Amino acid sequence: MSKITLALSEFVAGFWRLADWQLSLTARRQLIETYLNLGVSSMDHADIYGGHTCESLFGDVLKQAPHLRDGMTLISKCGIRPAIIGDTSRYVNHYDTGRDHIMHSAEHSLTNLATDYLDLLLIHRPDPLMDADEVAEAFVALRQSGKVRHFGVSNFSPAQFSLLQSRLDFPLVTNQVELSPMSMSVLHDGTLDLCQQLKIRPMLWSCLGGGNLMTGVGEKAIRLRGVLEHIKQQTGAADISQVVYAWVRMHPSRPHPIIGSGKPERIAMALASDKIKLDRQQWFSIWQASTGHSVP
Ligand code: NAP
Repeated sequence: MSKITLALSEFVAGFWRLADWQLSLTARRQLIETYLNLGVSSMDHADIYGGHTCESLFGDVLKQAPHLRDGMTLISKCGIRPAIIGDTSRYVNHYDTGRDHIMHSAEHSLTNLATDYLDLLLIHRPDPLMDADEVAEAFVALRQSGKVRHFGVSNFSPAQFSLLQSRLDFPLVTNQVELSPMSMSVLHDGTLDLCQQLKIRPMLWSCLGGGNLMTGVGEKAIRLRGVLEHIKQQTGAADISQVVYAWVRMHPSRPHPIIGSGKPERIAMALASDKIKLDRQQWFSIWQASTGHSVP
């Protein structure tokens, strides 16, 4: 199997919340340019974000400023089909990794993002009815047409990843998974071990627990904040988000964290975490605050 690499920026910009930010076209363009100017050139989308509106909100910027496309890597996802209220033919949220849905969804993403090709298409969630041969058929067709250059998955277990990979003669380039001090299962269920084994770099979503690490009032969030604050002082970090980004990036699979904020100052803060280095005891102090117990 030929090794095809896709160079994602170290940090990736996430646009799940783009519709929530209610930005004008000018402000959306400024945000995208801010990311690009800071060296964050990989843009993470999904067909369904913002009730299927986020890709278009982003694509409107590319229609206004098409030259920005060349400097970025566009990522999208497919495979989740939400129910539509009042539509009797779409009455339940479900997954669909059938060939036709993957093809249609990718076409829609191209139109909405105002681009001729996606750099990377991911299957958003593992589908219990996934027929790996059908997914492979869709991937091969999209690849041959030049509409999608690279493929990967999201939230896949090692077994699900290996199943799909077994049907492809080109490598899946990533598994986009949740990792934060609030949610550590991929550290222990083999997901990141497989990435390391295959030398593919995972992408990480909700590294800040969706903001919960900063504002959560639950026992775990409060316990974690205390430890993160302490390590912030020890390391000279500017805020606890920097400690968290340093913590997730310490994993040897060399993950790409996805930034979920639309605020330039928080984006800059995330990127400046590059200078913060944790030692093993600091890393395990955060692990311990997450689990509520010491390592065995
Ligand atoms: P996150 O960084 O964990 O959370 C971002 C949220 O935290 C934003 O609402 C942000 O608010 C808030 N926040 C950041 N810093 C804060 C602070 N200092 N104080 C208070 N709140 C703060 O990331 P995420 O948005 O959950 O996920 C990131 C990206 O991952 C998404 O955009 C999407 O691309 C991807 N994703 C993928 C999947 C998947 O299944 N593959 C699932 C979820 C997400 P402000 O905007 O106000 O800064």
